[in-house]
Amino acid sequence: MTFDIVLIGGRVIDPETNLDALRNIGIRDGRIMAISSEMLTGDQIIDVSDLVVSSGFIDLHVHGITNQEQEYQVRDGVTTALELEFGVPYLAEWYRSREAKAMINYGASVCWAVDRVRGIEAVNPAFEEVQHEVSAGDYRGIPSVMNHFSRAFSIELSDTGKVKMLEGIKSALTEGGVGIGVPIGYVGGASREEVFKIYQLAGEMHVPIFSHVRSGGTMAVQQAICDALLTNAPLHIVHINSVTQSEIGLAIEMVQTAKKQGFDITTELYPYPAGSTGLQTAIFDEGWQERLGVSYDALQWVAT
Ligand SMILES: [Zn+2]
Repeated sequence: MTFDIVLIGGRVIDPETNLDALRNIGIRDGRIMAISSEMLTGDQIIDVSDLVVSSGFIDLHVHGITNQEQEYQVRDGVTTALELEFGVPYLAEWYRSREAKAMINYGASVCWAVDRVRGIEAVNPAFEEVQHEVSAGDYRGIPSVMNHFSRAFSIELSDTGKVKMLEGIKSALTEGGVGIGVPIGYVGGASREEVFKIYQLAGEMHVPIFSHVRSGGTMAVQQAICDALLTNAPLHIVHINSVTQSEIGLAIEMVQTAKKQGFDITTELYPYPAGSTGLQTAIFDEGWQERLGVSYDALQWVAT
């Protein structure tokens, strides 16, 4: 058999079949027809030795959602980039603004942190005003609307507010939300009851929750796992390394234990020891040194 294109000598990695070896790849009519250690012949031979050949990566944790960031994501081999931790408020408007523009597959979760302001009377009018703003033109998600709503992150919802919040999540899910972003670590005003109600909804609708857990390290991971177990909500704990730090081994053991028992609970971690976040966020509220176990010498302000 001869092929249209043959990739020669690449390190072929296929997680589905656990393959990680030097192989040649034969492509015909745009499809991979052979993965072989034998020599293959074709019209076009491309030497890919010293390169990794793999299916496109799905990045579950991006915050850059414009083409500027997608240019980097493509170069990293990412073909699907998802903003799941925070999600994107005004999902319908965002999906519309990306139509025919995006370089790779894209998607986002429901942005509970912003959507919940629909349940806060003092901030509620701003929600529709901003919606008006973002429906015109290129829309960059959270960074472009953050200053309107960050104040609301520390406000607790009333009982009627919680009902509106849940309705807001449901309607955003119909706009294409890939689950629910629950970055409680940034939303100090979120009561245990509010969060439990979100898990209940996720369990009933069987949609995943993506959570940057509260501050509190492993105890906060336990809290999230407990909510998921009680409600049967699928749960993905984002960057478990930065939230549990030196107790990461224990935290991963907890996730693995839940998985082994059949619960749909997963996690992720990034492979570098630094993190990046907003100085104005709840992460740096009073007591951050004790909570994070670091002080000023560990901080770097990018602009300087
Ligand atoms: Zn985070």
